[in-house]
Amino acid sequence: MLADMWICIRCHTEFPEFTGGAEANLGSFGLYFMCPVCGRRNRLRSLGEDEEGFLRLEQIDEPE
Ligand SMILES: [Zn+2]
Repeated sequence: MLADMWICIRCHTEFPEFTGGAEANLGSFGLYFMCPVCGRRNRLRSLGEDEEGFLRLEQIDEPE
C-alpha cells in the first residue's frame, strides 16, 4: 500500500506528496525531504516511476 502523504517523523505534519510544500532532495545522505515546519530531515527511498511516469518516493522512517 503506497501512502499518498509524507508525515514528518518529528512533528507529524502531513504533506501531500509533491504538492504539500515539502520538496524531495538528493544529498550526501541520500534521498530526503526537509520538513518546512520543524526542519527535520525525513529520509525517502525511490519506488521507481508509476504508470504516468512520475517518480514515486516512499518514507523509510516511522514517526517518532
Ligand atoms: Zn516536522
